[in-house]
Amino acid sequence: NDPVRLQKFLSQCGLASRRKAEEMIKAGRVQVDGAIITDMGYKIIPGQNIIKCDGQPLSPRNRLTYILLNKPKGYVTTLSDPQGRPIVTSLLTGISERVFPVGRLDLDTEGALILTNDGAFAQKVQHPSHEVTKTYEALVAGHPSKDQLAQLENGVLVEGKITSPAELTVLKKIKHATLVQITIHEGRKRQVRKMFEAVAHPVLHLKRIAYGCLRLHRLPSGKFRLLNSGDLEKIF
Ligand code: URA
Repeated sequence: NDPVRLQKFLSQCGLASRRKAEEMIKAGRVQVDGAIITDMGYKIIPGQNIIKCDGQPLSPRNRLTYILLNKPKGYVTTLSDPQGRPIVTSLLTGISERVFPVGRLDLDTEGALILTNDGAFAQKVQHPSHEVTKTYEALVAGHPSKDQLAQLENGVLVEGKITSPAELTVLKKIKHATLVQITIHEGRKRQVRKMFEAVAHPVLHLKRIAYGCLRLHRLPSGKFRLLNSGDLEKIF
């Protein structure tokens, strides 16, 4: 855990706005490891220092946390699994906050998954009005024709509803398959797989490479990193 300013930590705990937190510090209501701190520049290490406000300990569990995980295949994005398959949160070593996945990725899909304990943020990014884009690399069977790619871009019928416009780029053609990059602006269940099924080129392998403009880059499979406010801005 990196050091953070005391007022930032207080606001991340959901206790108060940054400004209110500064007022609480100035008023001598905040203790670090038993000592009252009124110095605005004071930095603490979450999970290490004990922070109290009005004598009540603040739990770093409540600290707003945003994580980008490169989900491996074979992990479920639910918080428990009756079939005993591995769950994504088991990969988050050293994270004490109780985060949950924003949306889902199929068992067999790998790639960018955001996890957070910020319910308002999770709702906002998934709300259709924000149309947060999701970009995937899909290895699909065969070679979709120009016409089929255009159909996918304009919208295909998936469960009785036309998909909204998408962007497609063919990255590579191999013997019996094609690697396609596809960006969608909605997030229906198994959407990418169903879109390609609609044109009879089923997905063989699927990886989400970006959520909004937030990319996985070189994050290895199964690894995660904490997101900062600059990263979060890239999502919208
Ligand atoms: N579309 C799919 O088909 N599967 C995913 O996991 C995500 C998007």
